[in-house]
Amino acid sequence: MAKIADILASGPSSSFEFFPPKTPAAEAQLEQALLELEPLHPSFVSVTYGAGGSTRERTHDLVVRINRETSMTAMAHLTCAAHSRAELTDIVTRYRECEVENILSLGGDPPKELGLPPGELTYATELVALVTGIGAFSVGVAVHPEGHPASTNATEDRHRQAEKLALADFGLSQFFFDADVWFEFLGDLDALGVSTPVIPGIMPVLNVKSVKRMSEMAGAAFPAEFERKLRAVEDDEDAMRAIGIEAATQLCLDLMAGGVDSFHFYTLNRSTATREIYANLGLGSG
Ligand SMILES: Cc1cc2nc3c(=O)[nH]c(=O)nc-3n(C[C@H](O)[C@H](O)[C@H](O)COP(=O)(O)OP(=O)(O)OC[C@H]3O[C@@H](n4cnc5c(N)ncnc54)[C@H](O)[C@@H]3O)c2cc1C
Repeated sequence: MAKIADILASGPSSSFEFFPPKTPAAEAQLEQALLELEPLHPSFVSVTYGAGGSTRERTHDLVVRINRETSMTAMAHLTCAAHSRAELTDIVTRYRECEVENILSLGGDPPKELGLPPGELTYATELVALVTGIGAFSVGVAVHPEGHPASTNATEDRHRQAEKLALADFGLSQFFFDADVWFEFLGDLDALGVSTPVIPGIMPVLNVKSVKRMSEMAGAAFPAEFERKLRAVEDDEDAMRAIGIEAATQLCLDLMAGGVDSFHFYTLNRSTATREIYANLGLGSG
């Protein structure tokens, strides 16, 4: 096992994000994805957390199992929302006892229909402080190149992200579809004196409807021309996939041309798209 701060300091990285499955069928799909992605030797993988605690045990179990049973280093996502300080302390202490070394600290937005109480901690920065007070974890935070969707002031949003990164070891980004978005973000962070590494999040579009919905929630602009191309082949799954993979590959190439050498792939618990992009980029054994 390893600390992500050390992994990132040692050179370029690539990482994969998974979510804890809910059903036996989804579990089988994740197992398949893990088996097929392990040979790409990701620098680390991460496992999401259901804000409010809906995946509390499943996130824990999956992170611990990946660390123990595979060659991959797994990071646990954790959100403040709806948890008491004591609950968060329990969750993090248990990770320390299970030798998990990496935690992504998040605010979290539980589904409104659950009507959960707000929780004792609100912002990711408060959770970073709690986590680092419990153990020698490597702690990451989420960054939002196009601004956090709840933010009403772009300048203040950038300052808050810079302050948050100053407390963390690294940042993983929300997905975006235009390399200029990333370079503008990096420029702003640089002007604010941020030296913490940030890694762009890459989301291959395999289904235009679901990614459009995710983009709206995440505050990520979905370029009109890209959406038009995808909508034109909406009834042809293979054609839509091909366009999505080509666009994700091109985004990585544009980022690489500007000096980016690390990527975080949103896998949606499937391996094929990530493997194809890897092969297109000449990374790993594709
Ligand atoms: C890479 C990545 C992984 C994610 N993984 C998960 C996951 O596993 N589970 C999940 O539920 N969600 C996840 N999310 C979504 C995340 O929970 C949401 O973006 C959530 O709305 C905010 O959490 P945060 O940590 O991004 O933001 P925070 O840093 O907590 O900030 C949230 C908002 O509050 C503002 N703010 C921050 N500090 C203050 C302050 N002191 N005073 C006033 N305002 C403040 C910020 O500007 C921002 O608008 C992920 C997002 C990303 C980018």
